[in-house]
Amino acid sequence: MLSPGQTIGILGGGQLGRMLALAAARLGLDCHIYAPEAESPAFAVSAASTVADYRDEAALARFAASVDAITYEFENVPVETVRFLEALKPVRPGSKALEVAQERLAEKRLARSLGARTAEFAEINSLEELRDQVKRIGLPAVIKTNRFGYDGKGQAKILIPEDIAPAFAALKGQQGILESFVSFDREVSVVAARAEDGTFAAFDVTENEHRHHILHRSVVPARISDKTAAEAIGIARKIGEALDYVGTFAVEFFLVDGAAGGEVIVNEIAPRVHNSGHWTMDGAFTCQFEQHIRAVAGWPLGDPARLGSVEMINLVGADAARWLEILGDGRAHLHLYGKTEMRDGRKMGHVNRIL
Ligand code: AMP
Repeated sequence: MLSPGQTIGILGGGQLGRMLALAAARLGLDCHIYAPEAESPAFAVSAASTVADYRDEAALARFAASVDAITYEFENVPVETVRFLEALKPVRPGSKALEVAQERLAEKRLARSLGARTAEFAEINSLEELRDQVKRIGLPAVIKTNRFGYDGKGQAKILIPEDIAPAFAALKGQQGILESFVSFDREVSVVAARAEDGTFAAFDVTENEHRHHILHRSVVPARISDKTAAEAIGIARKIGEALDYVGTFAVEFFLVDGAAGGEVIVNEIAPRVHNSGHWTMDGAFTCQFEQHIRAVAGWPLGDPARLGSVEMINLVGADAARWLEILGDGRAHLHLYGKTEMRDGRKMGHVNRIL
């Protein structure tokens, strides 16, 4: 168990690392950020930083020697990096969660093994395999790279047989996963935390609206029946247990309305704090970042209960230029990530409002 004054090392220096470091600071803990990019948003709010490649073992060893526990804010950190660090200091969550969450196939297999529903899916290694599996699964379908996809990157829709060859070419030699296209009514997520002793605390189910594959708005409570919400939280709990998870994580679901109160279909697991949990910074007794820091420090979790109906809107690219106007609403909670360059599609900040 860590004590106030000790240091948590964070792999990744984006806005999630920044908000983790801010939460740690409130609890009297320091953070040391390790990131390959010289201009990382988390550096400005952390006690120490290292700019080095994730495969630089000398830099990793120095980093490990300077911290008391390690976590990551980004699921594309190489598994080998986490394994290397695990031999030196406690890493929470560990490499097992990272391994599963880096592969869409492994995520879906895990969800199925726990009795959860997923889209129909198949592993794709060749054009011939893709043609066969399209026959089995049917159209429309979606093909994605098995690894390293996020925010809709590395994805193509297959609507007609003529789309098959170009969709396969778009994988650029990487292994793919073919998924049946789910005609969902809404997208929802469960953000939850699990402590070292197995205690589990889920935030209320969040409803998420995407624009151009990027999260635009999250609202709680989600339009979901109590029964289906409990089912979604139960699935997240089982996933956390199966991965022996310590920290905050998210499970994204497709929600299909139906006579029995609707059903949830697992889409993705994120082994980290998640954009759809940003509302908790101002809308819950304990926020997702604090929950993660508590868990990594080996401390008890806080109460995740909601303080009201909450809306989170992402400020993407030029949206962030509206900061002064947003400040004009004295009840809006503005969060800016300190990114200097306002590129298209770049997450610059978010606004929380208690409705
Ligand atoms: P992902 O990268 O898997 O989170 O996918 C990004 C977005 O694409 C999702 O949030 C959905 O809106 C859409 N999408 C992905 N997979 C499917 C699917 N199998 N059926 C329908 N829509 C999908």
